[in-house]
Amino acid sequence: MDTRTGLPVVGMVGGGQLARMTHQAAISLGQSLRVLAAGEHESAGLVAGEVVYGHHADLDALRSFAKGVDVLTFDHEHVPGAHLHALADEGVVVRPGPEALEFAQDKLVMRERLSSQGFPCPDFAAVSEVDDVLRFGGARGWPVVLKAASGGYDGKGVWMLGSAAEAGALVPELLAAGTPLLVEAKVAMRRELSALVARSPFGQGAAWPVVETVQSDGINTEVLAPAPGLSPRATHEAQELALQLAAELGVVGVLAVELFETEAGLLVNELAMRPHNSGHWTMDGCPTSQFEQHLRAVLDYPLGVTELLAPTVMANILGAPEPPVMRPDERLHHLFARYPQARVHLYGKGERKGRKLGHVNMLGTLDEGLREKARLAAHWLSHAEWLDGHDIH
Ligand code: ADP
Repeated sequence: MDTRTGLPVVGMVGGGQLARMTHQAAISLGQSLRVLAAGEHESAGLVAGEVVYGHHADLDALRSFAKGVDVLTFDHEHVPGAHLHALADEGVVVRPGPEALEFAQDKLVMRERLSSQGFPCPDFAAVSEVDDVLRFGGARGWPVVLKAASGGYDGKGVWMLGSAAEAGALVPELLAAGTPLLVEAKVAMRRELSALVARSPFGQGAAWPVVETVQSDGINTEVLAPAPGLSPRATHEAQELALQLAAELGVVGVLAVELFETEAGLLVNELAMRPHNSGHWTMDGCPTSQFEQHLRAVLDYPLGVTELLAPTVMANILGAPEPPVMRPDERLHHLFARYPQARVHLYGKGERKGRKLGHVNMLGTLDEGLREKARLAAHWLSHAEWLDGHDIH
């Protein structure tokens, strides 16, 4: 407990933008997030009141960070499971707990558990030698999707293999480097969806509207909330599936279930047990943002309302190949001159090609016009270029 305020102290491992926005929500609840940041100038480190420097793979750093913390939670899934078990055994309240987190840390463990419980997943197989991939491709047909079981993000660690020859060229090299692998059938999907829910230790669950996520080169660029044209029945099915998964796996906090929509129905792609890019729209489009909800859930407070306030398009601001000459401050000035309604969330990060620097939420009627505005705004903020030729003068 914080003796100054009488309020609990939440410690978040990881100092990225998710911790930064969780801190923003913590302020309203009377708190200041305690953040374990791996390096200086991290997104949350710039703003949180109490920043401790240390690495998430260093057990001693985790131990000393957890002292005096009421709940330990995460802005990423990279803390080794053995460390989490050690902390939990020593009495630290870890939420989500290590047993649940494992399913967000290891895609093979997740696939095995989900398919054994009848949750719909793509066909898959474990890979310990190249023959495992060749057999899988031979039996089910090429292409197949090769994945690093752990350590991947934003499409890094996902390889589309078109033929046995391609598998032969890549798989031995990855195995030799110690990359744990699995192989999956390449799903013919209509689009990708995300079902975001939260669950508290008390057992309360809450589901936000299901969204469509649009990716480019493996990176999520745009989120449409709610997913256009998704029937009430499919929406309900996706929400039920995510709530059931949260309960079955014992998740505490926010759970994002990434889904593929196919002709035959929904398939689970992967799980994240923390606030997620597909939930950034909730900061403006919902009464309770995913960040506040994550805090409420890990503190076992009653959960907040998750209904839609207004249809929302979220566009990620991704770093330009070269940082523009125009300063970020001037770009923001021009953005607000054109779109006073834009809800801008910047992460305070240095500009680098493809890096997630922030996002823009645009609320309104979910049509091509709104999507275009969000896209133009996000591109302008990172590139200082209006893709539609708009003249700023
Ligand atoms: P990451 O952990 O890097 O986000 P994912 O497992 O989510 O990796 O895969 C990244 C992207 O690759 C997905 O968003 C999807 O577009 C594509 N993908 C992943 N698995 C499959 C699959 N089995 N079939 C078709 N596309 C896939």
